[in-house]
This record gives sequence, C-alpha cells and structure tokens, in this order.
Amino acid sequence: MKCLRCDGQMSPGYMVDLMKNAVIPGTWVIGTYQPNKFLGMNRGLSVRGKRKFHIEGYRCDSCGWLDLFASKENEYVK
Ligand SMILES: [Zn+2]
Repeated sequence: MKCLRCDGQMSPGYMVDLMKNAVIPGTWVIGTYQPNKFLGMNRGLSVRGKRKFHIEGYRCDSCGWLDLFASKENEYVK
C-alpha cells in the first residue's frame, strides 16, 4: 500500500485504548459520545447498544500519514 500524500510505503498497524489494567484494540463507535455517570461520578463513556468496530490502519514510513479503517469484518459481535 502506498501513501496518498508522498507515495511512500505504508506499514500496517493498529491503535490501542488504555484501560486501568489492560491495553485493548482501538475502537470506533457510531454516533456522538455520551458521558457515563453513576451516582454523580464520572465513569468514562457510555457505549452500550452502539455499533463498535476495531480500528486498523497503515502508517507511511516516510511522512507518518495515517490511514485508518473500521471495516465491517472488524465489528464487535456482542
Ligand atoms: Zn507519506
């Protein structure tokens, strides 16, 4: 795969989300984000019931350009 900006070589990779005790694949969630509050305390974001996809991507070895994908093959099935 070639970079759209400089025609350099693109390397495959992925983004990660950091949790308290884990590193998980980056996720694209449909819609706008909504705070998840419990007893008035902020508990991150609410993503329940929303379609979610693992993010995959490529990085240009020359200029650093990122192309990211959230393909239907990478949808969370839950
Ligand atoms: Zn490039």
